[in-house]
Amino acid sequence: ARPVVAVVGRPNVGKSTLVNRVLGRREAVVEDVPGVTRDRVAYDAEWSGRRFTLVDTGGWEVDATGIHLRVAEQAEVAVELADAVMFVVDATVGATDTDDAVVKLLRRSGKPVILVANKVDDQRTEAEAAMLWSFGLGEPYPVSALHGRGSGDVLDALMAVL
Ligand code: GDP
Ligand code: MG
Repeated sequence: ARPVVAVVGRPNVGKSTLVNRVLGRREAVVEDVPGVTRDRVAYDAEWSGRRFTLVDTGGWEVDATGIHLRVAEQAEVAVELADAVMFVVDATVGATDTDDAVVKLLRRSGKPVILVANKVDDQRTEAEAAMLWSFGLGEPYPVSALHGRGSGDVLDALMAVL
């Protein structure tokens, strides 16, 4: 069976945009409003001649007071099913409490994690991405899912752990 890669992270960090970037087509639903991806959705993806299943996540309610709990729960299910995880953080926002909650469960899972520092649209934001070394998840890959910047490098890194 082909390996499964889960894309997890807070609402609005650009998970679905990243999925579309990897797929090379606009299939995952991207919205300016947090919480739009209703369920886990699996797509057939390919990079460097290797095929894998890419799982976009979402599904939590926007109005939930315990939003970071819900994000963590959603991530937990996806991570259990996955062989590797792309953890997406908005580098322009930096680390939040919700991110910290996800980091904890990722470490517990023991699954390989690729840390995607998204929304690094230009070189100026790369310093923000470097702040994410503090998660202890290894190298943060600066990416602009919107424009494609850095997406090849992050996929190469993913292939190395699959
Ligand atoms: P999700 O909730 O994590 O799936 O996030 P989406 O993919 O739906 O994106 C949320 C918003 O962030 C949308 O308005 C996207 O256009 C925007 N976005 C996603 N990636 C980037 C990026 O690399 N740079 C910038 N500037 N905006 C982005
Ligand atoms: Mg989404």
